[in-house]
Amino acid sequence: MAFSERVALRTRQGLAALWLVIILSLFHDPFTPALTVPDSPLPLFATRTGACVTVQHHCVSEGVHALGTTLYWGVLLPLLIAVIFLFGHEFWRRVCPLSFFSQFARSLGMVRRRRPWQSTGSVSAARPTKVRPDSFLARHHLQLQFGLFYLALCARILFVNSSRLALAVFLLSFIAGAVLVGFLYDGKTWCQYFCPVAPAEEFFTGPRGLFASQAHQPRDPSLRISQSMCRTLASDIAPEKSACVACKANCIDIDAEKTYWASLMEPRRQQLTYGYAGLVIGYFFYYYLYSGNWHYYLSGIWTYEPHALSRAFAPGLYLGGVALGLPKLLAVPLVLGGVALLVYKGGQTVEVLLCRWLQRRGTPLEPEVLRHRCFTLTTFLIFNLFFVFAGYNVRQHLPQPLPTYLPVALGVLSAFWLQRTWHRSAATYTQEVKSQKGSRRPGAAFDLVVERTAAGFSVATDKGSADASSPVGNLDELMHTLRTSIETHLSPRRPEP
Ligand code: SF4
Repeated sequence: MAFSERVALRTRQGLAALWLVIILSLFHDPFTPALTVPDSPLPLFATRTGACVTVQHHCVSEGVHALGTTLYWGVLLPLLIAVIFLFGHEFWRRVCPLSFFSQFARSLGMVRRRRPWQSTGSVSAARPTKVRPDSFLARHHLQLQFGLFYLALCARILFVNSSRLALAVFLLSFIAGAVLVGFLYDGKTWCQYFCPVAPAEEFFTGPRGLFASQAHQPRDPSLRISQSMCRTLASDIAPEKSACVACKANCIDIDAEKTYWASLMEPRRQQLTYGYAGLVIGYFFYYYLYSGNWHYYLSGIWTYEPHALSRAFAPGLYLGGVALGLPKLLAVPLVLGGVALLVYKGGQTVEVLLCRWLQRRGTPLEPEVLRHRCFTLTTFLIFNLFFVFAGYNVRQHLPQPLPTYLPVALGVLSAFWLQRTWHRSAATYTQEVKSQKGSRRPGAAFDLVVERTAAGFSVATDKGSADASSPVGNLDELMHTLRTSIETHLSPRRPEP
């Protein structure tokens, strides 16, 4: 998706403003309840008189309600997943309103600064803090992000789904977290190390989205900024410039596919893929385990049923017509965590069994190819499972045949993605990178590194993060930027804004 940083910034600002308006409407909404009365001017949202939904053998009546939670869970969230899957991580990262809030302190020049320790004993100027590559956070950020996502999903079922106030506090806490991390650390540290949506972005993008660009195959080789790489706003005549401060090695924003292949065989990637799939399955099936029927989820009454807090201590499981004594407060994390663990172990086992079976057939596959195909199939299946359920509460009221055609259309698009991704491999990617490098003029790669290093270094000095009069003080910064530039920019080509 090629569009300028000016357009991206305006879109980010617009989405951030819209998000704040939505949050405000969750505190006070005098308009939408009128749309849900039985004789509503919008039949899409009209409540059916006398209709009720069975939950654990009790009847919960449909009633007049505000539409904030219904539209948030039934329209906005499914739209987000569809956008990430179709246009790739790179598109969403450039317009994400949470990313906008995370850059708030940086845009005001208020990022926390610290004096780096110098082995020579010299004193250098304070500079913006970055997550150290060997720190605990850098090594375990995926587990942290996955854990936050798991907690957020549990909180959704327990408190947030049906309470506008809880949803407003839930969203504001994310914004506060993004702003705080943006103040504490430089670069896109929130997106890279903390954001709980990042596992979903990695899961649904795979090596690349259906309509996403490829960082190593630029349409215009003169462009030096790839995918969602950090960049400065260009004037009308000057080209956009990189604003990368090297906050992460192997940055997914610079080359998503390179990051995918580099992490493919790591246990953390396996945990993310199968664990995320398990959480999605566990999330949807919990509604059945809780209420005893599918109508509870499909009706969408869970987006506005009252007394969410008191229900946290009511029976959380209803099996075979019997409400079990386990409170919902415990049942939700147990079911979601249990299913995630089961699917993770199941995914590992399937990979091993498939490997043995292929060897016995005499058609073995490289471990990387086998894992990539297992991941690809998992993403395809989970995407389609997601859209069987997600948004159904709103979709079912649309005029025919839209309720049927929408998930079918997404299914067809996901089939294209599957076909395009299935035969992709690290070897193909490396080959393409080599041929791309071969087509460049001699010395161009070195120029790129020098240019990128200079860009990163000038960003640091512009902000006063390094003392230009102290060569020793600048050396660490320069070497770190140079190392990261070589690592992230030399092998693959950059690309396509
Ligand atoms: S490494 Fe550079 S491009 Fe990637 S998120 Fe950090 S600052 Fe942005």
